[in-house]
Amino acid sequence: MSFRRIRILILLGILAGALGFTWLEQWMVRGWGTALAVDLVPINGDGSAAAAATIAALDAADFDDINAFLERETARYGVRVAPAMHLEVLPEAKARPPAPPQNGNVLETVWWSLKLRGWVYRQSGQWLPQLGRVKLFVLYHAPQDGVALAHSLGLQKGLIGVVHAYADPRQQGQNNLVIAHELLHTLGATDKYGAGGFPVYPDGVADPSLPADAPQREAEIMAGRYVNAAGKLTMPASLELCVIGPKTAHEINLDAAFARRYGAGG
Ligand SMILES: [Zn+2]
Repeated sequence: MSFRRIRILILLGILAGALGFTWLEQWMVRGWGTALAVDLVPINGDGSAAAAATIAALDAADFDDINAFLERETARYGVRVAPAMHLEVLPEAKARPPAPPQNGNVLETVWWSLKLRGWVYRQSGQWLPQLGRVKLFVLYHAPQDGVALAHSLGLQKGLIGVVHAYADPRQQGQNNLVIAHELLHTLGATDKYGAGGFPVYPDGVADPSLPADAPQREAEIMAGRYVNAAGKLTMPASLELCVIGPKTAHEINLDAAFARRYGAGG
């Protein structure tokens, strides 16, 4: 066999392995029969003292409202797992993940996602990939007036989230909202906001029984914002004001749990 053929075979093998792992991992995390395993790795996103102090004080309990949100919302779809999530805060990572391409084409994006998965594997310090564990990298930044954070993201392939968060205890509720949003992306949920960040109707609103132009009081988690009584696009202060809507529930495989519990036609 020529060297070229061997090389192609090896590449195909890696690809098949990656696809197989993705299938296996999705099967593991979308069963909703046991607590979701989540590793959270903090990173100092801007080298600031505020981020360092936030990371030094981090505790798994800081993320309890994500678990409370998951328990409350998945229970509405028939899941009975408590805790819904088992989150561990791992030691700080000193390196930052590769940044996504700015307006990249498909190839650049695929290449970046492979690089990111390679980076995650290398920094885990383990020989074997951590299958079935969601890996969330949270980059803390000192708040700066008028400076928006980079876009957070969650990838289904590899169960990887990269979240940009504020190093400010007053932002904890909203940081956790963003983390929960990216966590659900890793389980297959899609965004439900459109132009200008406005929720898409009806899938992106908390109460789709109301007309499209009616104000809402809560947000659908994958829209992340709602339009309030004053007509303003609002980010809820915490996950207590967020719900998992039916479309998101379907995307993260909660239908199966619902059918199991209520025997909806098998
Ligand atoms: Zn999103």
